[in-house]
Amino acid sequence: LTEFVVHYSEVALKGKNRPEFVSTFRRNLRRALRSFPGASEVYRDGRILVRVEGDEHAVRQALSKVFGVSWLARVSVTEESYDSISAAVAREAATLPRGGTFMMSTRRIDKNFPVGSMELARRLGKEVAEETGLKVSLGTPGSTIFVDVLKGSAVVYSDKLRGPGGLPVGVGGRVVHLFSGGIDSPVAAWLLMKRGCMPVYLHFYLAPSPEYAVRSKITGIVRLLAELGGRATTVLVPFADYQVATAGEVGDLEPSLFRRFMRMTAEHLAPGFGAAAISTGDSLSQAASQTLWNLRALDSGSSLPILRPLLSYDKQEIVDLAKRIGTYELSIQEYRDCCSVITRHPKTRAKEREVSESAARLGFPALVQECLSKATLVVYNPVTGTTKTSPFSLLAEEPRWAASGGFRPSAVP
Ligand code: ATP
Ligand code: MG
Repeated sequence: LTEFVVHYSEVALKGKNRPEFVSTFRRNLRRALRSFPGASEVYRDGRILVRVEGDEHAVRQALSKVFGVSWLARVSVTEESYDSISAAVAREAATLPRGGTFMMSTRRIDKNFPVGSMELARRLGKEVAEETGLKVSLGTPGSTIFVDVLKGSAVVYSDKLRGPGGLPVGVGGRVVHLFSGGIDSPVAAWLLMKRGCMPVYLHFYLAPSPEYAVRSKITGIVRLLAELGGRATTVLVPFADYQVATAGEVGDLEPSLFRRFMRMTAEHLAPGFGAAAISTGDSLSQAASQTLWNLRALDSGSSLPILRPLLSYDKQEIVDLAKRIGTYELSIQEYRDCCSVITRHPKTRAKEREVSESAARLGFPALVQECLSKATLVVYNPVTGTTKTSPFSLLAEEPRWAASGGFRPSAVP
């Protein structure tokens, strides 16, 4: 059995959010550990102690992906007594490189422990130096042995690993995320998750049936991201009706118009999912459709904020991040996206008024409902590994469907 201490960032801990923050964090940790036998976690004095069987490296890997983890370490957990702590420190010291330097870093969380932290560091340091021949260096020690005296136990460790930081997925609320399955939109979703948001994926597909999209990389990427956020909901909307309704409206306004349509669809869906914002993978001026003017034409009249976590990223930075996250290889898989049938030479300065007028003339609000009535809802549960697919319209007609509990963040396994 291996034990770890997991620390979360303190910033978000103030006030009433704390219990929800911690419980969401712990749930996400449990999900990350689910494949390890005998995994358990307990909350202890502002940190999480994890016990788990299995390959230490694999456990570290799994834990270091969970958003909200500021750092973690493999620890020895001992009784809260000087002798037990001293013995654990001696074992830890025996693993350090010979002939080097070290320092003790002690914290007394339990103020009832009879030895103060300075005194503890001094006594333990002296013992380690005598036993191992390592020299104490307080400036730039080769190693540091940490001792945290908690209430009822103590933890000893020497190797801290940084986590991804951020906030536990789920505490930041939901966003309807325009998801193309390209390189950018999965990275944008990941960044939003890093800040605690739970994306509801909205994807427009070109294929004659949703099965193609379900069997494609779209599902693969959503599954990968669901490892971080739990149960993932995807709404697959067919592009066909939009294509028919706007035939003849082609031209250099087309991309702006379609993007306005996607935004309006997201807006329409948002209340049902309890989402407070829309998000996209846009990066400023990366493509003609993403110039400042075109973003203005796209956002104009939106009732919700449109979040663009990649706005200031260069393509190479996005690609590097996609590789790190693991979405890149999926993103570059062959897939026939709607954008492939949309003009490659859009206006770089779409007029906001022209886009709004076209949207009104083409009856976009009704068209949104029409397209959504043919949409498919896909819910993937990473814990059970199951995917449930159902026609979206059934749910959309039921006004209380969103409040029925199925999509509340608290229902995330
Ligand atoms: P990505 O790599 O995310 O596809 P991109 O550089 O290819 O981005 P565009 O194709 O112009 O850029 O798309 C910009 C954004 O519009 C995407 O990041 C995504 O948020 C949204 N989007 C594009 N196509 C779709 C689609 N078929 N379904 C849903 N959203 C889409
Ligand atoms: Mg794209």
